[in-house]
Amino acid sequence: MPGPSGPRGLCKGEVQEGVMSGNEAAATEELKDALPTEVRISPGMNRLTELNRRALENPSEFWEPYADELHWEEREGPLFTKTADPPYGSWFKGWKTNLCYNCVDRWMTTERRNKVAFYWEGEPGEKRTISYHDLYREVNLLASAMKELGVREGDRVAIYLPMIPEAIFAMLATVRLGAIHSVVFGGFTAQALADRMNDSKQRLLITADGGFRAGKIVELKKIADQALLQAPTIEKAIVVKRTGQPVEMKPGRDFWYHDLIAKAKPYVAPEWVDGTHPSFILYTSGTTGKPKGAVHSTGGYMLWLYYTMQAVFDVNDQDVYWCTADIGWVTGHSYIVFGPLLRGATTFFYEGAPQIPTWDRWWSLIERYGVSILYTSPTAIRSFIKQGEALLEKHDLTSLRLLGTVGEPINGEAWHWYNKHIGRGRCTIVDTWWQTETGGILITPQPGTVDIPLKPGSATFPVPGVDAAVVNDEGHEVPRGEKGYIVIRNPWPGQFMTLWGDPNRYKSVYFSRFPGFYYPADFCIRDSDGYFWLLGRADEVMKISGHRLATTELENILIMHPAVAESAVIGKKDEVKGEVPIACVILKPGHTPSPELAKELLDHVRNNLGPFGVPAQIYFVEKVPKTRSAKIMRRLIRDVVEERPLGDMTTLEDETSVEEARRAYEEFKKDIARAKG
Ligand code: ATP
Ligand code: MG
Repeated sequence: MPGPSGPRGLCKGEVQEGVMSGNEAAATEELKDALPTEVRISPGMNRLTELNRRALENPSEFWEPYADELHWEEREGPLFTKTADPPYGSWFKGWKTNLCYNCVDRWMTTERRNKVAFYWEGEPGEKRTISYHDLYREVNLLASAMKELGVREGDRVAIYLPMIPEAIFAMLATVRLGAIHSVVFGGFTAQALADRMNDSKQRLLITADGGFRAGKIVELKKIADQALLQAPTIEKAIVVKRTGQPVEMKPGRDFWYHDLIAKAKPYVAPEWVDGTHPSFILYTSGTTGKPKGAVHSTGGYMLWLYYTMQAVFDVNDQDVYWCTADIGWVTGHSYIVFGPLLRGATTFFYEGAPQIPTWDRWWSLIERYGVSILYTSPTAIRSFIKQGEALLEKHDLTSLRLLGTVGEPINGEAWHWYNKHIGRGRCTIVDTWWQTETGGILITPQPGTVDIPLKPGSATFPVPGVDAAVVNDEGHEVPRGEKGYIVIRNPWPGQFMTLWGDPNRYKSVYFSRFPGFYYPADFCIRDSDGYFWLLGRADEVMKISGHRLATTELENILIMHPAVAESAVIGKKDEVKGEVPIACVILKPGHTPSPELAKELLDHVRNNLGPFGVPAQIYFVEKVPKTRSAKIMRRLIRDVVEERPLGDMTTLEDETSVEEARRAYEEFKKDIARAKG
């Protein structure tokens, strides 16, 4: 195990303090004054700039040595070609490979054959250890069984499973056959599953009788049965026995996983597919609008993960790496399954919820498995902050050397808490910015490549080959310290190739706002040192008397206040101002709602953001309605606050069923009624 201070760590001593404590400072109009005047250039920054320049100038030349470390069955044509249409480039066209082969077979002739690929623990406590050779066997058996059921190159396969090893076998077996998987998060409802299966006309479903989550059984097969009633393209279903509760098996359609495996052949040759062959479709989490099926490539996607896994997580053979995401999200695809396996890493993963049996389950897992790299989300960190530190301090977390975050901006308080209580002040921290669409991480500290000083709340710099800029409404780069939209001005290997069945939407959503650029729809500021500060979604903006203010900015200001655990802000229609902010606030334990505290919070906003952003109303609530990927459901809050019936939820239904949204709506209504007192 590497020493406690981490190998090439950006340790706490190097954190540049007092610059901005999180995104909060970025939220203010006065930000410019808060930024440091002196530009601090470190050697690491120069090296990154140089790598980026080389990668942009000649992508084929830059990426070739990395591609050489992966297996290609054939190489025909250039690594990269510019194209006239979005995404303006194609990678590895004419090259033949297989993602599963590179993740699994490639290790069979090396000493990693006998290395642990996965440690796994179920919520009730069962343990499994899977070596690379075990993985090879399992994946081949399942792939043969799937082939026997008729799965062929290009077919779409739905995967609706809990966080169990079979979920990973299923993804790998699918790409082994050149088929395309569409993993649907195990928390989604029948409607969401059916919509996805129908959208891309999927043929096979792989599911389980059930899964364990937060002390309960999620009845996956029962939910899938409902979905199958409305999904006529699914011909067969494979069912993993996980919980053992009774389920209905439709003869001729449904097969037990273990029965198929018992009869399956031990080897099936990988299908050599083109570098541009789709490896999977992943529907974006759907905070905004109808689900979009992002289609990812094979060659470019593989290279991007291979590169970033090392540059960002600096993973090596001594590490036990744990990414706490669900495989239903892109983070799980890229950084639980494909990225770590491409590097031959050892990964730990866990089926269940962090509070089972008590809130120290994660810390106990880290201690027992010797986890050295932890990758999680600011939402998770904040939920641990709410629990206090007593349970946490019972555990030995000295195996940790690198901590990562993803999913939303990390506020200063959460960053410092993560650093102090989990990292014990001696871990490298990587705040990684990316999206479902980008395939892998784009802006992040890269301790596997260079050391640079960290600034809590900034994702720092782009990965080489990513030409990121911050622009105004006209697409012109804004001066340092000014807020604008982040854009990526060039194609990069990991980017998604299209939206399934909707190439026009692909162009209009992502490439038409600023022609020639990829538009992620996030706000950003570059400070005077060139660091990127990602500020959250650009599609949730209030217009208050002509001022534009992102809801996340006000939320970040509110959580800076010591009494506030969490907040959700919406813009309410106002005849005079156009919109006024309304804030729902969850207090930390030990604080009670009072008119004095409300006033204090209003003053806090006035002082830290400016008078224009002061909420018209603060509601102290117990929780705020969130999607399953932990993003705030603002439309629902708006309906409650504006005392409207629950509006059209059809665009949310991929995320939570209409019925669930309704329940959340009713609960929230009561909560608000209480708050109004
Ligand atoms: P949809 O696009 O369907 O509305 P979504 O954007 O919530 O869903 P994801 O692709 O999972 O789905 O999330 C990506 C978004 O998460 C980014 O656009 C950004 O707003 C936010 N995000 C991710 N990582 C970071 C980070 N490190 N810092 C700031 N924001 C982040
Ligand atoms: Mg998005």
